[in-house]
Amino acid sequence: ASVGLVTSAEAFDSAEKYVVAAGIAKSEAKHGGKNIAVFYNSAMGEIIKNRHKVRTEIEKACKENLFKVVFQPQIELTTKEVFGFEALIRLQNEKYPPGEFISVAEESGLMPKVGRILTEKVINTIVEWRNNGVELKKISINYSAAQMKDKEYIPFLKALLAKNAIDPKYICIEITESMLFRDRALAKNIFDEFSSMGLRIALDDFGTGYSSFSYLTYIPATFVKLDKSLVDTYLKQEKYHVVENLINFVHGLNMKVIIEGIEEKWQADKIVEYKGDYIQGYYYSRPLESKDAQNFKLNI
Ligand code: C2E
Ligand code: CA
Ligand code: CA
Repeated sequence: ASVGLVTSAEAFDSAEKYVVAAGIAKSEAKHGGKNIAVFYNSAMGEIIKNRHKVRTEIEKACKENLFKVVFQPQIELTTKEVFGFEALIRLQNEKYPPGEFISVAEESGLMPKVGRILTEKVINTIVEWRNNGVELKKISINYSAAQMKDKEYIPFLKALLAKNAIDPKYICIEITESMLFRDRALAKNIFDEFSSMGLRIALDDFGTGYSSFSYLTYIPATFVKLDKSLVDTYLKQEKYHVVENLINFVHGLNMKVIIEGIEEKWQADKIVEYKGDYIQGYYYSRPLESKDAQNFKLNI
């Protein structure tokens, strides 16, 4: 249950306002992960209003094609070459960062639509790069648990790949463990379908949430992405052995490790020392516009 509470300390002048306030607190309880009780406070009204504005902006962007996609290079550490890119969505006007509008899209049922728009843009980019004679690399697409509702997503993706004659090996799907919490059986089905299509799977955000080791054994992932928060915690407080052990652990399961959020040289050096496979971080490159990404090479 998600419970919203309001006390008489709010001193509203009508009963109706108490009911509205309790409703706002309840939606905050849902937003905060459900199964909790939340007290109303006046700042919540502002949060809700802002969320409404973001939602309107997303709806507009869906209708009027106002999203764009940027590509962040992933560097293979043994060769220092670009191994692939992660596709990251942006509002063209950059009014809200993806970290903010994706969660609103997820809550308000807009994520299936946004996910398809992003997927189409990625496919179009691959076609464009191929037409420009660029050597193709794997592109990772983030798949939100909120897209599990979109029963036709997999056929949609299959059809797009077939229509454009794109080998599925060029697509990697980044999933998160939150899919398992939503519906474990369905999640498992979706993983299997992705795999049997020939797509690769990366388990994203490892080191946040629950990150139970047991998930790793039954998600058919090729890659595990160690989250930036892990890097921040363990490569900054000199608890290096944690990162080293995690890399070894993932290797023990025959998976490759992508380390996110590396911003400094000494961090990259540590990851090389610990035999991490790939780095995606500002140290090598920020996310790039398509025209810059297609020719990106490292000159370190
Ligand atoms: P994420 O999937 O973990 O994506 C990685 C985020 O880390 C990106 O932020 C990227 O720019 C950022 N990052 C990479 N290296 C560094 C670094 O060295 N330092 C710092 N400070 N940040 C770094 P971005 O693009 O703002 O995306 C934030 C989140 O929004 C993503 O986290 C993902 O959860 C979501 N998102 C973005 N695009 C999409 C999308 O197309 N679909 C879905 N479902 N979610 C998306
Ligand atoms: Ca990701
Ligand atoms: Ca991540």
